[in-house]
Amino acid sequence: MAEQAQKSDKDRRIISCLQCFKPQDMLPNHLLRVCMKDHTDEERKAEVERGKKSMKAWTLRGRTWDYNTMVKRYPDPDRLFWKT
Ligand SMILES: [Zn+2]
Repeated sequence: MAEQAQKSDKDRRIISCLQCFKPQDMLPNHLLRVCMKDHTDEERKAEVERGKKSMKAWTLRGRTWDYNTMVKRYPDPDRLFWKT
């Protein structure tokens, strides 16, 4: 039984907020109170889904870099769309 308790504790999901790039264990609450407090419930829900999806993508790749690294590498998102 102790094993089970340990597992559920481990399963507590930490999702990074894609607005401030900080890991949140209560992302819906965090969005509501901090990063997306002026947004609608639907927008926040979509943002939580977005966070979950990127966590899944990171986990699948076994990495934790990603968005933060990309932001540093491409500080100007417009540059990604430049064509030469
Ligand atoms: Zn945030």
